[in-house]
Amino acid sequence: MKENIRKEFKNHFGCEGTLYASAGRINLIGEHTDYNGGFVFPGAIDKVIMAEIRPNDSDKVRVYSIDIDDYVEFGLNEEDAPKQQWARYIFGICREIIKRGGVVKGFDAVFAGNVPLGAGLSSSAALESCFAFALNDLFNNNAIDKFELARIGQSTEHNYCGVNCGIMDQFASVFGKKGNLMRLDCRSMEFEYFPFNPQGYKLVLVDSVVKHELVDSPYNKRRQSCERVAKHLGVETLRDATKEALEAAKSEISEEDYSRAKFVIEEKERVLDVCDALNRGDYETVGQLMYATHTGLSKDYEVSCVELDFLNDIAKECGVTGSRIMGGGFGGCTINLVADDKYDNFISEAVKRFNEKYGHEPKIYDVVISDGAHKITE
Ligand code: ADP
Ligand code: MG
Repeated sequence: MKENIRKEFKNHFGCEGTLYASAGRINLIGEHTDYNGGFVFPGAIDKVIMAEIRPNDSDKVRVYSIDIDDYVEFGLNEEDAPKQQWARYIFGICREIIKRGGVVKGFDAVFAGNVPLGAGLSSSAALESCFAFALNDLFNNNAIDKFELARIGQSTEHNYCGVNCGIMDQFASVFGKKGNLMRLDCRSMEFEYFPFNPQGYKLVLVDSVVKHELVDSPYNKRRQSCERVAKHLGVETLRDATKEALEAAKSEISEEDYSRAKFVIEEKERVLDVCDALNRGDYETVGQLMYATHTGLSKDYEVSCVELDFLNDIAKECGVTGSRIMGGGFGGCTINLVADDKYDNFISEAVKRFNEKYGHEPKIYDVVISDGAHKITE
C-alpha cells in the first residue's frame, strides 16, 4: 500500500509528501452502553487508511483516492463542499479544524486503505482521524489535542456526512495503541489502557453481510426504555443504577423495560470484569464474558438476528473461547476470540454452514490490536 501511494503521489503531483496512517477499530465488549453513560472497550486494528500529504501553497485541496480511483479538488470555504461522499470526510475535517480556530491551507493528498467499508470496523473514522492527525501536524504544530481530533472526526460525521455517531470510533482510531485496548468511560470521558496480547489466540471477525433495517426506530425504542427505567430509579443514566434497585422496581416497570435495563446494568459490570481478567491475562474468562454479552444482546436487549445467533452457535460448537455480536446489532459482524488450534476448523465450519443456510458466505477479517493515528517516518 505504501509503495503504491508513493508512486501515485509522484505521478499526480511530481514530488513527495509525508505519510500518515490511522486505523479502523473493534470493540471487545461494552455494547449499547455509550448512551447509558457506561463503558466501551475499543482498540485500533491493523487495518488502516494511509495518506501521503503535502502543503501546496495554494487555497485548494487536491486529493486522489486510489481505491475509488477518483480525483477531487475543492476550496476550503463552507460553500466549497465536494459532492463525492469520500471527499466530504476530508473536507469536513478541514472545516471542523478551521471552525475551531485551527489552520488548514491548500494541500495535495493521495490515500488508500484496507479497512473494509461499512463492515462495522469504522473505515470512516480511520479516514477522518488520518487526515485530522496529518493536518494537525502539517499546519498546526500539533497544537490540537488528541481528544479534540476525535471530536473533529465526530463533528465531520454529524455536519458533513449525515451520520449522528457517538465518539467511540474516532476516539479509538486516534488513541489506539498496539497491544492495548482502551476502556472509555462515556460519562466522564476518562479512559485507561489495558494490555491485550492474547498469546495463543486470534481475534477474528465474521461478517454476516446482512443488515436488517435498523431504521432508527428499534434503536430509539431501546434508548427510551433505558431512559424510562433510569428516571423510575431516580438516576441520571443506567450507569448509576444497581441490579438490586432494578430488582426492587421490577413489578413497577414493564417486562420489556426491565429486560433492557437488566442488560445495560449487567454489561457495565461485564466490562469491568473483562478489565480484571485482562490484568490477570485470563483470556478464557474474557471469552465467557463475551458469550454472556451475546446472550444479553440476543435475549434481553433483543438486537440480534437469526444469522448472528447462528454464527454464535457455531462458535460455541467449535470450542471458540468467546463470541458475540459487535456493534448495534440486527446484522453485521460477530467478534470472536479463538484459540490457535481451533481457528481453522471454526472458520471453515462457519463459512460452510452459513453458506448452506443463507446462500452466501460470511466474510472473515483477522485483526490484531495496533496503533491508531500516527506519522510514518521510515
Ligand atoms: P464504516 O462502518 O466502514 O465506517 P461508513 O459508511 O461510515 O462505513 O464509511 C464508509 C465511507 O468512508 C465510504 O463510503 C467512503 O466514503 C469512505 N471510505 C472509507 N474507506 C475508504 C477508502 N479506502 N477510500 C475512499 N473512501 C473510503
Ligand atoms: Mg463509519
